[in-house]
Amino acid sequence: MRILVVGSGAREHALLRALRRDPDVTDLHIAPGNAGTLALARPHPVDVTDPAMIAGVAELVGPDLVVIGPEVPLVNGAADVLRERGFAVFGPSAAAARIEGSKSFAKDVMAAAGVPTANALTVTNLEQIDAALDACVSPYVVKDDGLAAGKGVVVTEDREAAAAHARAVLGSGHPVLVEEYLAGPEVSLFAVCDGRTAVPLLPAQDFKRVGDGDVGPNTGGMGAYAPLPWAPAGLVDTVQRTVLDPVLVEMASRGTPFAGLLYAGLVITAVGPKVIEFNCRFGDPETQVVLELLDTPLGTLLAAAAAGRLGDVRLSWRGAAAVTVVIAAENYPGTPVTGDPITGADADGILHAGTKLDGEGCVVSSGGRVLSVVATGDDLAQARDRAYALVDGVRLRGSHHRTDIALAAAQGRVHVPGTA
Ligand code: AMP
Repeated sequence: MRILVVGSGAREHALLRALRRDPDVTDLHIAPGNAGTLALARPHPVDVTDPAMIAGVAELVGPDLVVIGPEVPLVNGAADVLRERGFAVFGPSAAAARIEGSKSFAKDVMAAAGVPTANALTVTNLEQIDAALDACVSPYVVKDDGLAAGKGVVVTEDREAAAAHARAVLGSGHPVLVEEYLAGPEVSLFAVCDGRTAVPLLPAQDFKRVGDGDVGPNTGGMGAYAPLPWAPAGLVDTVQRTVLDPVLVEMASRGTPFAGLLYAGLVITAVGPKVIEFNCRFGDPETQVVLELLDTPLGTLLAAAAAGRLGDVRLSWRGAAAVTVVIAAENYPGTPVTGDPITGADADGILHAGTKLDGEGCVVSSGGRVLSVVATGDDLAQARDRAYALVDGVRLRGSHHRTDIALAAAQGRVHVPGTA
């Protein structure tokens, strides 16, 4: 099987790494990729926001399957353009990708499907902000309705900070969602979907805040681990029954079946799991740990989803636990410092994100999240030790990472994110 992966982050590096293990995958291509993916796949330059350009690369490569990593091309209709041209694609149509592209659309789908989620109000002008915040109790949850690279959400006990975020989002031209705060540990559950059937992967937990102990602003994600030793018994079955299956039925009944990766971001509340967001693609950094543990050949699985043949798929897993730690550039999640040389980034398990080769062929930083180090172990403690040993071998001036990824779980505690 020849596969073209679209994207350039550690998620795509992880996808290539897992696809490489599939004996039926013979030829891998990546558009555009990064310095680390060069060892696994042939690179093709592309602007991932441009569906026509992605289709152009596919025409050149002639893949049996295209796997689209990031949300922006999906929301922009890349899967539709590719399907129109006859390619098999793992990734939802633009109409189905709205489940991530618009949080109010996702709320509407959940309401129609009876999926448990936080109550929310949509705010479209400045005059509505105060009334919406009045309707909530602290901590306030204020979200950008549109795509914001995981950084559009503010959770705060400071009402003025909540109002300021709402004003900033409205100023950028997007509606705002003011949402009920859900207390409890967070879980990310991915499901491979073919429009009718959802096949859930292992639940994982990610760490959104930039600093140890959940301080500082939200990021795209600073680390993750799987599995979750503290997860309630039957969690995956519950989410399949209360979230995944009803959403697939609802999306299909709207004439926009969801085929691709449905990512449910959940809070395990006192009354069971509730959805805080959907994404329409593999999440980064959870993908790095989930795929590291997947034994089922990934190319075959994603091709079955693209062909609508997931009905009798059963997954198998390898290894006991996996931990990933993100190494970020100086000043991330603000404007990151880029162009710094990186050394020690070629060890097995170091996945690249914001990296490129400079004119002399040296690896330099080119984005906010630069590397994502992944390791497995017999348990989370061992996977953690191995991941942090890899982190210690990397040199990048000014870089930072969290030191508490999977720490609570490895010590038998449950990690519950705090507020800023
Ligand atoms: P999102 O981009 O919607 O996943 O939100 C980013 C982060 O904000 C989540 O990982 C949570 O930590 C937090 N968050 C979002 N919505 C809520 C909510 N309703 N209650 C509590 N925390 C939330």
